[in-house]
Amino acid sequence: MMRRPILAANWKMHMDRAEAGDFIAGFLPRVEQASAVDIVIAPPATALDRVGAALEQSSVQLAAQNVNAEAKGAFTGELSPAMLREIGCRYCIVGHSERRALYGETSEGVAAKAAALLGVGIRPIVCVGETLEERETGRTHDVVGAQLAGSLAGITTDQATELVLAYEPVWAIGTGKTATPELAQEVHSFIREHLCGRFASAGNEIRIQYGGSVKPDNVAAIMAQSDIDGALVGGASLEPESFARIVQFDCPENT
Ligand code: PEP
Repeated sequence: MMRRPILAANWKMHMDRAEAGDFIAGFLPRVEQASAVDIVIAPPATALDRVGAALEQSSVQLAAQNVNAEAKGAFTGELSPAMLREIGCRYCIVGHSERRALYGETSEGVAAKAAALLGVGIRPIVCVGETLEERETGRTHDVVGAQLAGSLAGITTDQATELVLAYEPVWAIGTGKTATPELAQEVHSFIREHLCGRFASAGNEIRIQYGGSVKPDNVAAIMAQSDIDGALVGGASLEPESFARIVQFDCPENT
């Protein structure tokens, strides 16, 4: 099964509008040849319009970092799926571990967000991953399995191929500790089995990204694993040169 690789930048709460504009100006000329992969950039909400406009003539796609599952109403500070669609988002990260840990996001809430996004034609990037303590006590599969079951509740088999999963072991995010490619593959294969159990053959078409200290010099080995179809990149996505090297992970000069 050939799944089209998908490399996504999660800028988190970095980049003002001028910095975001400078990034795109430096990034696009470096990735003109990268037509065989999907490239996605998730700026902070304040830069969505600016980045969206700068990406208009390119194949690089815009993403949001969060959404509210409701269509409209008295939800101060929140943005609806239709608002994100209006501003040009094609993808939206949901259930990032920072949101789960710092803002009380639950898998049930993530499922509602994913369903609402699919309803307006935005592809959710659904994040799952265990903490160090959960790994060390042998609970990785239980935790990731429960996150998957909860976060994908209500998604239909027809919608499944629009989903992107991101396996991000919490202990590898922003820490410089990357999971070894083999360790990541082991969990990706577990996730693949879960997706095939849930969505039958459509599970084989769903792309599963790895996230956690992905860098230009480790991305090729990670991408070489059979169930790893992309990367969700935080720190190393903030410099145009670094993220450009990541999206061109298969170039010989990059390995
Ligand atoms: C992330 O936040 O999704 C992430 C993987 O961050 P980093 O690449 O900085 O570890």
